[in-house]
Amino acid sequence: MSGNPAVVMRLVASAYSVAEKAGSIVRKVLHSGELGIVEKTGANDLQTLADRLAQQSICASLSRRFPKITIIGEEDLPAEEVKEELIESGHSEEILQRTCPAEYSGAKEEELVVWVDPLDGTKEYTEASKCLHHQTEAQIPSKGLDPSQVQSTALWLLDNVTVLIGIAYEGRAIAGVINQPFYNYQLGAGAQLGRTMWGMIGLGAFGFQLQEVPGDKKIVTTTRSHSNKLVTDCVDAMEPHEVIRVGGAGNKIIQLIEGKASAYVFASPGCKKWDTCAPEAILHTVGGKLTDMHGNAYRYNADVKHMNSAGVLATLRNHEYYVNRVPQSVLQALKSD
Ligand code: AMP
Ligand code: MG
Ligand code: MG
Repeated sequence: MSGNPAVVMRLVASAYSVAEKAGSIVRKVLHSGELGIVEKTGANDLQTLADRLAQQSICASLSRRFPKITIIGEEDLPAEEVKEELIESGHSEEILQRTCPAEYSGAKEEELVVWVDPLDGTKEYTEASKCLHHQTEAQIPSKGLDPSQVQSTALWLLDNVTVLIGIAYEGRAIAGVINQPFYNYQLGAGAQLGRTMWGMIGLGAFGFQLQEVPGDKKIVTTTRSHSNKLVTDCVDAMEPHEVIRVGGAGNKIIQLIEGKASAYVFASPGCKKWDTCAPEAILHTVGGKLTDMHGNAYRYNADVKHMNSAGVLATLRNHEYYVNRVPQSVLQALKSD
């Protein structure tokens, strides 16, 4: 490695630590039980104190270090001084030691765009919180749960929650960091909660074991809280062997790369660029694909529309199979940008 790492490597290395800090904020707010829930556009579009604090932490930490980068966060927050305790100034030394792929080594700070979803899966986060704070001591994850108890409560929703930091260059998602704050929640007292995955196109993806769904089984993962007829018609048209309904765009991409699902199908507007940038970068790094329902790529320049209006279709393999099965009704209803 040269003595002067490329800006984009320094950015990913910082984003790694910043995502971990955001994950710890997300855990802390959940355990406090004071979620400070605000409805944005409606009851299925929520913001909590964790969304607000995690975004403040991520954006302030990154912009202090990289003042010329464009950072676009999901939450609309009043411009105010961010508390010093929210600032993360660390970085991953391991990432910094890696060689930047040649095509990104000349990228300048002002050419990079960072898309931030401080808490993906907020709806599920609030439901898990209700469960956690209304249960008896024996059912609190830190006290240990057996698998049947986990299934019978809403605590499994904790794994739907992620922190997403995506990095775009020349309109493409090129790198991403995903922190899953409650990973290992089933292990009980003493277990270290949380994990961080990251990837960069041309370099590799780390922090998880890449797996495919065995055989030719078609397992479709889709939304659990933002469904409608178009979404269900499109899922049915894929002729899946199994359908999984979970929260979070980040979580569904994790299912694809860990062999739990073969396609993420969401034939509706609703997902935004901060939902897809980091997950797309990691998925593309391992040979997968994320597009709209027509099979067209999304772009991540600083001035693009935030909404992914033409839906989200993501796969690790066999993207064409799924694109070819999208019904005409969906294609007509959801136009590509
Ligand atoms: P889901 O699969 O429903 O968890 O959605 C993935 C991401 O897209 C989450 O960040 C959701 O908040 C967002 N999303 C999807 N549909 C909608 C919608 N109708 N309104 C607001 N946010 C949505
Ligand atoms: Mg989100
Ligand atoms: Mg969010």
